[in-house]
Amino acid sequence: MQENDRPVGMSELAVSRRTVFAALGVGIGLGAVGLPTAASAAVTGWSNPTLGTLTSGYKTASRPGHTGWDIANSQGTPIYAVAAGTVRDIRTGSYPGDTTSGPLPGRTGNSVHIDHADGYFSYYGHLYRVLVSDGQRVSCGQLVGLMGTTGNSTGPHLHFEIHNPRLTTLDPRTFLANRGISLGAIAPMGTTGWPSVSQGNTTWVTRVIQYLLRGRGVSTVVDGYFGPATASSVKTFQSSKGLYVDGMVGPITWTALILPLQQGNSGDLVRGLQVALNARGASIPVDGAFGSVTTTAVRNFQSSHGLVVDGLVGPVTWSTLI
Ligand SMILES: [Zn+2]
Repeated sequence: MQENDRPVGMSELAVSRRTVFAALGVGIGLGAVGLPTAASAAVTGWSNPTLGTLTSGYKTASRPGHTGWDIANSQGTPIYAVAAGTVRDIRTGSYPGDTTSGPLPGRTGNSVHIDHADGYFSYYGHLYRVLVSDGQRVSCGQLVGLMGTTGNSTGPHLHFEIHNPRLTTLDPRTFLANRGISLGAIAPMGTTGWPSVSQGNTTWVTRVIQYLLRGRGVSTVVDGYFGPATASSVKTFQSSKGLYVDGMVGPITWTALILPLQQGNSGDLVRGLQVALNARGASIPVDGAFGSVTTTAVRNFQSSHGLVVDGLVGPVTWSTLI
């Protein structure tokens, strides 16, 4: 059994958080027959584990031993619990190319099991980081880890399984579809933080990325189209920062791209900020000059989003803008 599935079809992936929130949906599970009580632990809600492109299916003809689905996105894409439960069997310390770690021997790297009610459990493999601890109770949609490529894997993706009972796997795509959830395609409950943006995206977010790349010294055409040229610029930036080089702008790359901005700054980073402010309802010139007009726009945005109103653009204001 090889878990060497390379993400394909990435060019079709273009996720913007606006469509994500519009599509926010949580499936109704077995508890739909009645509200749960303390004595009845039926699973009442299910969520997608993550967003991304489906790259390898459950028990396909070419991979009959593949007992889950693979969902590819940028390294660091958040992974969420698909239902409430208890964390168990955590594996950490794995690395890309590691063929020895993981509870499914030689396959799935850093990983987490979550026991749910009714004998179900879910399994999340190849994680970049595990963000929960053994025995921890988690709620549906709680962040449990970050997508990675640890174990025997050739690119960042989530290997995801559903079992009931423990040693009997189910097709997780069908399982979630029966609960109104399209695997990988609608936002997990609890979705927060930076969006993952990749080739094909033509929203204002791409224009922001292009300005930020230029502001960080990477030659980039600012045309609002995330095509191969922009992907190449992203790869150049990722390589220069020692990040996983996939040409996609996910949470880790976003965090590396942004810098704190304040009045007096100028240049392409400020232009990127001004594009984002305009997309969020401001109407200011994109002139690369962080003066009083931009400061007022920042303060207005901060005020309307419950942030500290200081006119300074740090990580919290940046991530709320994007
Ligand atoms: Zn897999």
